Amino acid sequence: MEQFWSGSAINENKGMVDNLQRYGVITSKKVAEVMETIDRALFVPGGLQPYVDSPMPIGYNATISAPHMHASCLQLLEKNLQPGMRALDVGSGTGYLTACFALMVGPEGRAIGVEHIPELVSFSTENIKKSAAAQPLKDGSLSVHIGDGRQGWPEFAPYDAIHVGAAAPEIPQPLIDQLKPGGRMVIPVGNIFQDLKVVDKNSDGSISIRTETSVRYVPLTSREAQLRGQ
Ligand code: SAH
Repeated sequence: MEQFWSGSAINENKGMVDNLQRYGVITSKKVAEVMETIDRALFVPGGLQPYVDSPMPIGYNATISAPHMHASCLQLLEKNLQPGMRALDVGSGTGYLTACFALMVGPEGRAIGVEHIPELVSFSTENIKKSAAAQPLKDGSLSVHIGDGRQGWPEFAPYDAIHVGAAAPEIPQPLIDQLKPGGRMVIPVGNIFQDLKVVDKNSDGSISIRTETSVRYVPLTSREAQLRGQ
């Protein structure tokens, strides 16, 4: 819900990342590197300002999250996005974060996007093809699937990292089930007032949950309800 800068002064992806570092949002070198490598402009619909620190509409009552939210989520998940690990991006929208995940987990890992609007799956696939994550998409270490993300994506479970890009009224059990012991999920929970929750599955399978910050995301809901605008 914060905004660290506005206006159109930032006209380069590098400038956006520099700003996120200047404002103390990005402290990780790896996250800065990945966000520099994946040009956000390739994922934001034409005519909008891709480097402003604000969510932008992407159609279908959805938005691409603000750069500072993408950065925060990447940092919260960084230890679970090491080379060779598996990451699930629920509500992958534009594909931006799925692309970042693919670079972090590398060719031996897997980055899976699940999105329930077929047109956004096509949009994200086209975006990824133009980006520095084109090769992982080609190799199959990155894939985006049409589906109800509340069910996760069992095919490649369990996951080291799960990111949910839409707010759930409560944490869907299948997502907890698909988390590896030692795995971490970042998920906005709530209706109008939402908390970004960090869910850790401990090595004994027990769950620890903490609140990171207050956020405002579009709902994790059915396709019909989303298209009706509810
Ligand atoms: N991380 C994405 C966020 C897009 S907004 C980005 O920054 O581009 C949230 C996305 O969740 C939307 O694309 C919406 O269509 C999707 N979504 C909402 N409910 C869903 C569900 N049940 N299953 C799959 N995707 C869902």
